[in-house]
Amino acid sequence: MTIQLQEVAKRRTFAIISHPDAGKTTITEKVLLFGQALQTAGTVKGKKSGQHAKSDWMEMEKDRGISITTSVMQFPYADCLVNLLDTPGHEDFSEDTYRTLTAVDSCLMVIDTAKGVEDRTIKLMEVTRLRDTPIITFMNKMDRDVRDPIEVMDEVESILKIKCSPVTWPIGMGKEFKGVYNLLTDEVVLYQSGQGHTIQEKRIIKGVDSPELDAVIGTYADDLREELELVQGACHEFNLEEFLAGELTPVYFGTALGNFGVDHMLDGLTKWAPKPQSRQTDLREVKAEEEKFSGFVFKIQANMDPKHRDRIAFMRICSGKYTKGMKMRQVRIGKDVKIADAVTFMAGDRANVEEAFAGDIIGLHNHGSIQIGDTFTAGEEMKFSGIPNFAPEMFRRIRLRDPLKAKQLQKGLIQLSEEGAVQVFRPLANNDMIVGAVGVLQFEVVVHRLKTEYNVDAIYEPISVATARWVYCNDEKTMATFERKAHDNLALDGGNNLTYIAPTMVNLNLTQERYPDVKFHKTREH
Ligand code: GDP
Repeated sequence: MTIQLQEVAKRRTFAIISHPDAGKTTITEKVLLFGQALQTAGTVKGKKSGQHAKSDWMEMEKDRGISITTSVMQFPYADCLVNLLDTPGHEDFSEDTYRTLTAVDSCLMVIDTAKGVEDRTIKLMEVTRLRDTPIITFMNKMDRDVRDPIEVMDEVESILKIKCSPVTWPIGMGKEFKGVYNLLTDEVVLYQSGQGHTIQEKRIIKGVDSPELDAVIGTYADDLREELELVQGACHEFNLEEFLAGELTPVYFGTALGNFGVDHMLDGLTKWAPKPQSRQTDLREVKAEEEKFSGFVFKIQANMDPKHRDRIAFMRICSGKYTKGMKMRQVRIGKDVKIADAVTFMAGDRANVEEAFAGDIIGLHNHGSIQIGDTFTAGEEMKFSGIPNFAPEMFRRIRLRDPLKAKQLQKGLIQLSEEGAVQVFRPLANNDMIVGAVGVLQFEVVVHRLKTEYNVDAIYEPISVATARWVYCNDEKTMATFERKAHDNLALDGGNNLTYIAPTMVNLNLTQERYPDVKFHKTREH
């Protein structure tokens, strides 16, 4: 194998999908601990304790004045090099979160076992379906009084429409959480509480029928044996093909806080999750193993610090190799650009990393010329597909304090929407400007950037819009009738695409019923 093939084969690029508070941040810490990126697991975001992850990303963050620290984390595990892409959860949730899921090869779904399947997870799973991304599941918080694991797995199967295949099975829960049984290796791994900040020495008992198990966990041993009969009868066996097709998910149980089970999950991820996959362009399919460089931009990180206008465009490398100072073609504008100072994310050793391979993410400094969805190549005129806009879920009317600045406002909003920061809609029926987002922080970012970058003072007003759909129809006559009848609810987005702006979901459903030949899309390709 050439060096490049080896590099591709060992990469695993994934993201975590979960509902806020399920434990994503805690798992990220532990994952980094296993990756040896951090000596002891500190706090990644420092959102509660005020601490920060102890790493020299901090310096980079200070240098650049932006928070790219946790956007991409690269670390070695087993024989692999793992890229973990952050998917912001709470306030900073945005369309970028959705698009990040188009840049990974697999996802880890984290479920709070006390709660089961929650809203945000349902939405994020919907997005992974666009590419049938393989999903690994971690049932978290087993050190609490959780729900019946079988019931929670049933919920995953029925709500998320994915088959569950438990790789490990929990023994007890809450204060009585004893550990897990690995169905594939026939081993019990014992849990030791109070060791969440270290990599625990593994205490393993081989064989579920071992008398040692009864000696160590008492009556829980027989309970386990009984339960396993039920589980093995009722659950799906692991099947690699079905996993890779996104139809079946291996399930692991544990507690991120207690740092138990996260390593089992990482073992599964590195063993089964796919290496960097081929990607479709408008011309052809691009294989990760190809020598020629290619990649696409899936996220642009806005900088909230007014002293730094610089923004970082995150590119997923799809093929070939990035080396410092190389030239690449930015296909949309037809220009060759020399990239000398891309940000790379090798844990703990950023200074020495001057190359990156398919599956890796690099950050490009962007002064406004890069847009979401931009393709970069070694010269080939092609464009990666599958990096969509997502129908916003929150809408506000934006209004100027100074009415004379209408032109600047429009220009600013359209540029910001091209960059992917927010979406803008202009109704056909009036002169409103409607801003649409999936996360509330996007609204703040837009007003802030309008002021600092376009010198426009804008404020928001509430507006009763529930959702938006991009509309298409092959038949011109039907479309003309639709456009006339639905005129009051139609708008143009930032790229002049026709959009139906629905005041309520009921209205949307009725309109869809009334116009069966018109297609209402929840996503739109760049
Ligand atoms: P995020 O919002 O998904 O990033 O969730 P966090 O990782 O910030 O966790 C939310 C809360 O749950 C925090 O108070 C964590 O300490 C707690 N938590 C996370 N994992 C566990 C766990 O395995 N057991 C218990 N008891 N608490 C946990």
